[in-house]
Amino acid sequence: MEKEVIYLGSHVSLNGPDYYLGSVKEALSYGANTFMFYTGAPQNSYRKPVSELKIKEGRELIKESGIDESKIVVHAPYIMNPANFSRPDLYDMTKEFIIRELERSEAFNATILVLHPGASVGQDRDECIKAIGTLLNYCFSQTPSNKVRIALETMAGKGTELGITFNEVKAMIDLINPEYQSRIGVCLDTCHINDAGYDVHDVDGVLKEFDSVIGLNKLLVVHINDSKNPRGAHKDRHENIGYGYIGFETLAKYIHHPLLRDIPKILETPYYNEKPPYKEEISMLRNNEYNEGWRN
Ligand code: FE
Ligand code: FE
Ligand code: ZN
Repeated sequence: MEKEVIYLGSHVSLNGPDYYLGSVKEALSYGANTFMFYTGAPQNSYRKPVSELKIKEGRELIKESGIDESKIVVHAPYIMNPANFSRPDLYDMTKEFIIRELERSEAFNATILVLHPGASVGQDRDECIKAIGTLLNYCFSQTPSNKVRIALETMAGKGTELGITFNEVKAMIDLINPEYQSRIGVCLDTCHINDAGYDVHDVDGVLKEFDSVIGLNKLLVVHINDSKNPRGAHKDRHENIGYGYIGFETLAKYIHHPLLRDIPKILETPYYNEKPPYKEEISMLRNNEYNEGWRN
């Protein structure tokens, strides 16, 4: 029988002097077989030229180490607000940034770019959703290579965030032109859906609803995070695996669910005592065995 391969990793950094090579090394040090990274600081849009990021060296190590490159994920900076049509200057800047980010992702040979749908900041939500559709169609039209897909992330509903229900995400997807449909998908975040009000513990129920509203064929990435807050809190504060309201057992179900088998799963849990938790979290989730008090 073929051994079950689980694509599990975490967010890793992209810092000098080793840049992408360092990202790959960091992922391997956690026992990960995939990972997610930002092409620069997550909170700003300054980006170093890709030629300086040791991509070739990183990709060589990826090949040697048996990481499946097609499961690697890029995350766009979270300051992007592709819904903010009321500020044409920012809206245009976001447009241009996302086009460059698609190109950068391709330079890494990454095929999935996670993007937060943005926030309505006082505007009509339906108009914002339309603005997202228009922006993404434009970005796809300006990046003829179809290698990189955008995964819209399901959000917690903090402030005026958009994309907090599967229906809202589906409305965005429906606005994407038919010729770009293969380039649009979804990133499901366990902390976010819990905070948005879904019963995250009913894993089969969540996946069934996702399938009937959006379609599981659109699911490109799952973010595996525990939550510091109860269902429906609209907070978006991630917690270490087993230390929040979701708990190990439920999160492990997402990891091992047959319907999610080929999908990369990425941890975005917080550091504790200034240490990354990912090695322990990955090993526990992979083995489906919780080590009580592992953070002590
Ligand atoms: Fe995110
Ligand atoms: Fe996330
Ligand atoms: Zn979050």
